[in-house]
Amino acid sequence: MMLRAAPSPPAETDGPALSVVSPCFNEVEALPEFHRRVSAACAALGCTYEIVLVNDGSRDGTTELLDELAAADPHVVAVHLSRNHGQQLALTAGLSVCRGDDILVIDADLQDPPELVGEMLARRAAGADVVYGKRRRRAGETAFKRTTSYLFYRGLAALTEADIPQDTGDFRLMSRRVVDWLLAMPERRRFVRGMVSWIGFRQEPLLYDRDPRVAGETKWPLRQLLRLAIDAVTSFSIKPLLAAAWLAGATGILAAGCALWATATWISGAAAGGVALAALMLGLSAVQFVVLAIQGQYLGRLCEQSRDRPLFIIDRIEDAAGRHAVAPPRPTSTRQRNRAA
Ligand code: UDP
Ligand code: MG
Repeated sequence: MMLRAAPSPPAETDGPALSVVSPCFNEVEALPEFHRRVSAACAALGCTYEIVLVNDGSRDGTTELLDELAAADPHVVAVHLSRNHGQQLALTAGLSVCRGDDILVIDADLQDPPELVGEMLARRAAGADVVYGKRRRRAGETAFKRTTSYLFYRGLAALTEADIPQDTGDFRLMSRRVVDWLLAMPERRRFVRGMVSWIGFRQEPLLYDRDPRVAGETKWPLRQLLRLAIDAVTSFSIKPLLAAAWLAGATGILAAGCALWATATWISGAAAGGVALAALMLGLSAVQFVVLAIQGQYLGRLCEQSRDRPLFIIDRIEDAAGRHAVAPPRPTSTRQRNRAA
């Protein structure tokens, strides 16, 4: 089963050897240099390649620039989404369009060096299905970002069942079969690097130093990073749901202790403190809210998934062959559906 939103299943035979897939959101400043370095790295390989650039609803001239690149360079495929869908879905849209035998996923801001593709392909040839970039050093990022990222990966490892590699982003080379399995996974809240780990086969790290952005600013404010972290945990673990059981146990013991204390105070003839009672009530309701909030996170995601909407909507695709409009699925009327049933 393929993603419903995939415009066409990737053809096995006529695709290039390598697809480079990159989500782009307001990257007009970084894109010319990105295109230059990626093209140079791919040309040095001497194999057929395509560069699939997904415009994730940019508002800064990225749209026009991508169309220019697609018109000037037959290797470039510009995929325009109908609006901003977020990096993980933009990436998924790119993966659904690309046709290569091997697929390199890389951000458009050149924080990850495209020149590593040769070494990644060599490891692929030696039998690895996935070669993922593992960051040794992150230049140009704030101590705050480094610390939160460090804590995120350690926390995720403690909470999740899938063996998600640490200090690893989406920068990776994947085989066609891994990408096809990835596209067959229907979840909406996609934490792609975790999903790739879950797929399995032989996956190897490639150590590298992460560079600062060439231009522009990070498109990941703290709020979105936090959302990605919560998506990562809820997509891969049910342990937070079990927190309710631990909290129930702990508050039970606390309540029993307070009850004993109040009884002892009462027996000794002193007044049992009203403050203690208030603290106990507040504590208990706080715990209830925490539990409800955790359940809400899962419930919300269940609700979202049950809507079963397409993951992304492609407006049009520009490549050497010109402009391709992506038609919406034909709406079926109730009468047609009844006849088909
Ligand atoms: N990106 C995207 N949609 C978004 C946010 C980001 O396609 O809503 C792209 C962005 O253009 C870049 C990649 O995702 O190519 C990673 O984003 P960024 O470099 O801003 O994140 P950081 O490296 O700071 O975590
Ligand atoms: Mg970046």
